[in-house]
Amino acid sequence: MNLSHILNHLGEDRDKYYKAISPPIIQSSNFAFDKVDDLRQMLTDESAHHIYTRGNNPTVEILRKKVAALESAEDALVFGSGAAAIAMAVLGNVQAGDHIICVQSPYGWTYKLLTKFLARFGVSHTFVDGTSMEAIEAAIQPNSQVLFLESPNSMTFELQNLKACATLAKKHGLVTMIDNSYASPIFQRPIEFGIDIVIHSGTKYLNGHSDVVVGVLCSSKAMVGKLFLSELMTLGAIISPHDAALVIRGLRTLPLRMQHSHDSAMDIVHRLEQHPKIEQVYYPFATDFPQRELAQEQMSGAGGLFSVLLKANSIEQVEKFCNELDCFTMAASWGGHESLIIPICAFYNIAGRENSPLPWNLVRFYVGLEDVNWLWADIKKGLEKL
Ligand SMILES: *Cc1c(COP(=O)(O)O)cnc(C)c1O
Repeated sequence: MNLSHILNHLGEDRDKYYKAISPPIIQSSNFAFDKVDDLRQMLTDESAHHIYTRGNNPTVEILRKKVAALESAEDALVFGSGAAAIAMAVLGNVQAGDHIICVQSPYGWTYKLLTKFLARFGVSHTFVDGTSMEAIEAAIQPNSQVLFLESPNSMTFELQNLKACATLAKKHGLVTMIDNSYASPIFQRPIEFGIDIVIHSGTKYLNGHSDVVVGVLCSSKAMVGKLFLSELMTLGAIISPHDAALVIRGLRTLPLRMQHSHDSAMDIVHRLEQHPKIEQVYYPFATDFPQRELAQEQMSGAGGLFSVLLKANSIEQVEKFCNELDCFTMAASWGGHESLIIPICAFYNIAGRENSPLPWNLVRFYVGLEDVNWLWADIKKGLEKL
C-alpha cells in the first residue's frame, strides 16, 4: 500500500464527518442503536464496530487502520502505552507452565514483565544472545511458546536475523513477537519477514512530538481478534480518542521525521567515529558495527538513536560532558522533535538499586529535528571537557 495514501487518507471516512480534513475526535464512551437487532449484529464483531470505547472508538479506529497498514499487518490494536502493548501480546500467548525465549537486555519493563510479573504465574523464561541463531535454537524447550525479539534494542542495538527467527519459530510452533520501536515501520517491517506480532512504543517515533504515551500491536486478524476479546477488553489499557487524534497528526510527518533523524545521526556518528575522545560508537549503520551487514539487509534506515563510550577517566568527567551540553536535553525517552541524551552513569550509585549492567561511560544520544551543525557544535564543546 502507498505510504502517502496510508498517512493522508486511509481510514478517514470524510464523507461521514463533514468532509473535515482533520479527523473528528469522537469523545464519546458509548454509541446508540435503533433496534435490538442492530446491537445484536454489532456484537458479532465488537472490534470492528462502535459499541463502547473500551473496545473500539471511531478516532482510535482510524489510528488502528493506519498503523496496521504501515506494518503490512491485517489489523492492529492501540494501547495506553508501549509497555501495555508488550504485556498484552505476551499475556495473550502464554499460560501457566509455558516458557518464553527472550533476547538478552530487552527494554527494562519487558525484562521486569518476564522476571518479576510472569514468574508469579508460573511462566518461565530464558534470555539469549539474539545475535546467535544457535543460541536461540539451543534455548527452545518442549514448553516454549513465545520468542520475544527486540531488533535493534534501544541501548547497544544488537540485532536478530528476523527471517531466520521466523523460520525457526514456525518449525517449533513458537509465536514470534518483536518490539520494533527503534526502527519504526518506515525502516523495518518485520511481518514481511514472517514475524507474527509487531509491537511499538508509539510514544517514540509514531507520535513523535513527546506529548502522548501510547502503544500499538500489529498482527493477523485472528491474533488481533483473540487479543481484543481477552487482553484488551479485560485489562482495559486503552488510549483516549483525543490522544489517538494527536498520534494520527504525528503520523502525517513520520517518513520526513525518520529520514531527517537518520541523516543527521549518520552525519554525527561519522564525525564521532573520527573523534579522539570517543572509544566506541554503537549504531546499526556505523562503519564498524559488527552486524552492519544484517542491519542494511533488513532495515532501510536506522533513525536517530545511537550510543557512545566516552574516553573518560571517571563518572565525574562523564557528568561534566553531559552537563556542558545545551542543545541536547537530558531526558528519558526519544523519538520526538527534540534531541536528547541519557548517561548510563545516572543509573549508578542509586541507594537501594543495583548499578546498571551497562558501562558507566556509555551515553545514549537521540538526534531529533534540529539543525545538525548546531547539534554537532554542542557535542564538540562537550567533548572538549574530557
Ligand atoms: C519506551 C519503550 C518502551 C515502552 O513504551 P512506553 O510507551 O513508554 O510504555 C518499549 N520498548 C522500547 C524499545 C522503548 O524505548
